[in-house]
Amino acid sequence: MKIPTRPHYLFLIVSHGIALWAIWMHLSLLAVLALLLMHFMFGCLGITLGYHRLLTHRAFEAPRWLERSLAVLGLLALQGDPIEWTAVHRQHHRFSDREGDPHNASRGFWFSHMSWIDQHYFPCVTQDRLKKYSPDLQNDPFYRGIRLCYPVIVAAWILFCWFLAGWTGVLWGVFVRLVFTVHMTWFVNSAGHCFGFQAYDTGDRSTNCGWTALVSFVEGWHNNHHAFPSSARHGLRWWQLDMTWMVIRLLERAGLVSNVKLPSEQQTREGRKPDGWREALGLSRPRLPLFASEEQIKLPAGKEVRS
Ligand SMILES: [Zn+2]
Ligand SMILES: [Zn+2]
Repeated sequence: MKIPTRPHYLFLIVSHGIALWAIWMHLSLLAVLALLLMHFMFGCLGITLGYHRLLTHRAFEAPRWLERSLAVLGLLALQGDPIEWTAVHRQHHRFSDREGDPHNASRGFWFSHMSWIDQHYFPCVTQDRLKKYSPDLQNDPFYRGIRLCYPVIVAAWILFCWFLAGWTGVLWGVFVRLVFTVHMTWFVNSAGHCFGFQAYDTGDRSTNCGWTALVSFVEGWHNNHHAFPSSARHGLRWWQLDMTWMVIRLLERAGLVSNVKLPSEQQTREGRKPDGWREALGLSRPRLPLFASEEQIKLPAGKEVRS
């Protein structure tokens, strides 16, 4: 395992220490409720609905004011600005589990969960990569603007937390919430390529994993997502709860979103493999070691990169 060097990554490690200390010293029912509310606002509405299904995959259309509001919520999740996030995630789909995938799960669970931030994040967000993978957002002055103002927006959020509840507000509103929400996203990248089952042969390691779905507003039906990347719905079976999809349905019924993309019933049945309850819950044996080099683990021969 390499020693972390990037200040960005070191900040994340220090944040874990501060978050644990805050939970130990300042745990209260009100703090936990506020955490869950922020997790829903920034994690579900900001990241999974806004950054992921809307901005990255354009799984539905939303009026400009709604799209931009969701983008600001995503930005407050502190996982990077929309231009960076979408560029990284589009590279993940382009090169899933191969060289070029920012969190290539073939390098082991730990790399795909957190270590990739230290080693692979920045090479994936150079100007060239951003132009290549997020041209739609790069060409929009709003997204270029919030990218420039990112530190100011974050500072404003920290001040807001401080005015609301002093240092306890900063500890829970910034550090505990940051750690809680980043692991939601990271578990999709790691456990969503390691535990559970492959309903569809997608040519990568992506899996449907019940327990990842529970902690990630149901982004954990990740193999379904790799099979149908532009689908607004990831939970494709009746029992696969998909909270983000429920929000999209609600917005659609309220007339706030349109052109919601879904695969047909026939498409979802084609090539789908049967699964058992153990696999569905994500309780199967891990498909990856904790640490691995790309030389140790290779994808089955003959699989092509899906774009
Ligand atoms: Zn994936
Ligand atoms: Zn995706």
